Amino acid sequence: MSDAALTLALSKGRIFDETLPLLAAAGISVPENPETSRKLILPTSDPAVRIVIVRATDVPTYVQYGGADVGIAGKDVLLEHGAQYGDDSGLYQPLDLNIAKCRMSVAVPQGFDYASAVRRGARIRVATKYVNTAREHFAAKGVHVDLIKLYGSMELAPLVGLADAIVDLVSTGGTLKANGLVEVEHIMPISSRLVVNRASLKLKHARLRPIIDAFAKAVQP
Ligand code: ATP
Ligand code: MG
Repeated sequence: MSDAALTLALSKGRIFDETLPLLAAAGISVPENPETSRKLILPTSDPAVRIVIVRATDVPTYVQYGGADVGIAGKDVLLEHGAQYGDDSGLYQPLDLNIAKCRMSVAVPQGFDYASAVRRGARIRVATKYVNTAREHFAAKGVHVDLIKLYGSMELAPLVGLADAIVDLVSTGGTLKANGLVEVEHIMPISSRLVVNRASLKLKHARLRPIIDAFAKAVQP
């Protein structure tokens, strides 16, 4: 691997799947499937480009510290990461790729009167993976909340009395519905963005530019 080789950090699942057409637009194909391969480093058709498979929440960390030159992460993950590290986290965000689209929302069990709890100024217990984004959202609306940090399956929390509400990502609403929850507030639309390590942007500009340009041209409205 030469010094000028590029490392792209991706998570398995929808982000990987929706990135393949963008890579194809840049003339890059990925022969191996991360769902079936045990490899954490996947070669591509371009000997100078490799992919590292990491957890979605770890993508900004890899790019920030140069473990990867470039990565693709959801706005949800980037906001939480930014809240922890501040704006000087060394991440350049040149492009909204408009993939892995969903929204961040507040949801409650069917029987919980969210609007009335807010009006009364009651303290609402909210379980979420996105504590920083949720804190800012409720503070801006003047809603009193106790935030409970979870790492997954947020939908379960209100069903077992751990929380009154959740802040989670919603696309079709099918998971909420299956668990007797209803969406009561939209916080923000979410999509995945390209993030680039600032040092790589300078040192590997010649390799990065054509890929960023090809991605930009291939982005679907
Ligand atoms: P893991 O499933 O390994 O715990 P994760 O839940 O963060 O990690 P994914 O479910 O693959 O990983 O989500 C990765 C990214 O895809 C999220 O950060 C978000 O930006 C986006 N995403 C999550 N859920 C949806 C959804 N229902 N529809 C569209 N995009 C989504
Ligand atoms: Mg998931």
